[in-house]
Amino acid sequence: GVRIDRMVWGESNFRRSMPVRKMDSHKGDHGKGLIVGGNTVMPGSIAMSVKAALRTGAGLVTAGTTETVIPAVAAHCPEATYLLLGEKEIKPDANRTVSFDGFDATAVGMGMGRHDNAGKLVSRLVEDTLGPLIVDADGLHHLKPIISKVKERQHPTILTPHPGEMAMLLDTTVPELLAQPFSFSKEFAAEHQVYIVLKGQFTIITAPDGRQAVNITGNPGLAKGGSGDVLSGMILAMVMQKLSMFEALSNACFVHGKSADLLVAETHSEYDLLASDVIEGIAKVYRTFL
Ligand code: AMP
Ligand code: MG
Repeated sequence: GVRIDRMVWGESNFRRSMPVRKMDSHKGDHGKGLIVGGNTVMPGSIAMSVKAALRTGAGLVTAGTTETVIPAVAAHCPEATYLLLGEKEIKPDANRTVSFDGFDATAVGMGMGRHDNAGKLVSRLVEDTLGPLIVDADGLHHLKPIISKVKERQHPTILTPHPGEMAMLLDTTVPELLAQPFSFSKEFAAEHQVYIVLKGQFTIITAPDGRQAVNITGNPGLAKGGSGDVLSGMILAMVMQKLSMFEALSNACFVHGKSADLLVAETHSEYDLLASDVIEGIAKVYRTFL
């Protein structure tokens, strides 16, 4: 038959692909995820990612972060657990006593900062993590110099850039990228064998084999700090459900945008909507479409 390489991912795709949770399921069935990020002056990003991952359906979420950030995460999310990775600044443990291989999926980057120790931590995760690795925000800056190592991973790697971050990875400008976002994504995904979620008004999901989906949910209420952190937590949770990687990424984008759309239609506006509201709106999406 004809293979459709590019599609809009909509309600029916979401409904059809989401797995039913077994009556006798336990937390291990829904994934044990690790989110690495945060620093003293940016405690909110990782807090939002952790909470979004739990609301999306992850079984357990561990925040790999600094001592100073833990209270911020705990205040929003008593369900979280922790892996201590520094006092004020995130860094890899010198003696390699911390293990990164006991998780079903890992996300890195949110609010981690651009200092050298954060970069070393990203390298270690690229080498050591078993299972899918999602790289966002500052993590993408640290990934750029070691991008050639990504292909050697035995597990999927997912990059979630906004256009500025994608242009940085490609050594091009945002206007150049946005003139041909599909072909830039496809070439980069094939060359480095990564999945790419290129975020924007319409988000483009690209698989290493060239398949592409477009998400059309979402509205300008999402054009605010924190929206991307919420999405990366949702992606972490979705990739741990029993879905293909392509379905998981597309569903995360669908739910993220749809949450904002339902909130703006019912109880909020594009002006006042906050990223943390989008986490609470996940419930509306699940209750409406599943
Ligand atoms: P970030 O720039 O990393 O915070 O990510 C922003 C998130 O909000 C992405 O998921 C975007 O797709 C989404 N977003 C931002 N602005 C809009 C918009 N005008 N319409 C729809 N989605 C948006
Ligand atoms: Mg971001």
